[in-house]
Order: sequence, then structure tokens, then C-alpha cells
Amino acid sequence: MYEDEKLVCEDCGKEFVFTAGEQEFYAEKGLVNKPKRCPECRQARRKQHRKNRKMFETVCSKCGAQTQVPFKPVPGREVFCRDCFKQMQEDGTLPTRESVETPTEE
Ligand SMILES: [Zn+2]
Ligand SMILES: [Zn+2]
Repeated sequence: MYEDEKLVCEDCGKEFVFTAGEQEFYAEKGLVNKPKRCPECRQARRKQHRKNRKMFETVCSKCGAQTQVPFKPVPGREVFCRDCFKQMQEDGTLPTRESVETPTEE
């Protein structure tokens, strides 16, 4: 059985709890290293990482709005802005990843 463990964050020096559930999750994933940072710092780093990611300007295939995507748009492939993406996700009409990235044969 796993037990909650107190760890010290490498970034802010605060103590945080590596819960039994998380330990189990880590073990399942085969991760041997304990987290080095508290959840807040981990999240902050993820955000930072996202910010540093190169974004490409493109136009939404659906509504024509200017949008940014984290990959280089390929001509002929559909790219959607966040709003359309979300809308299609809600409607269940979102094309599969494959069909979005495969050039259309029109
Ligand atoms: Zn921290
Ligand atoms: Zn759109």
C-alpha cells in the first residue's frame, strides 16, 4: 500500500503532498522518479512551456477567423480556431484527427 508522502518543491521550497493515489499512478506509468515540484509550480511550468511554443498564424477553415495553431499549417489541411473546435466538439461533428490532418481530395 502507498502512503501520502511529503516532498519539498525544488522551485519554491514549499512542502507538498505526494499522495498515495499519485504514487500509485506513477507506479502504474512506470515512473520511478518522484515529482520534484509542487502542483502549482508544475502547472506554472506547463503554462510557461505553452507560452514559449511557436505558434503559427493561420485562418480557420470553418469561419475564416484569424487563429493561431501550435503546428505549421499545411495547405489543404483543415485548421480550426478554438471556437469552432469547441463548437464541433460539443456538436460531435469534430472530424477525427486523421481526417483533419489528411489533405482533402477535392
Ligand atoms: Zn513549488
Ligand atoms: Zn472558426
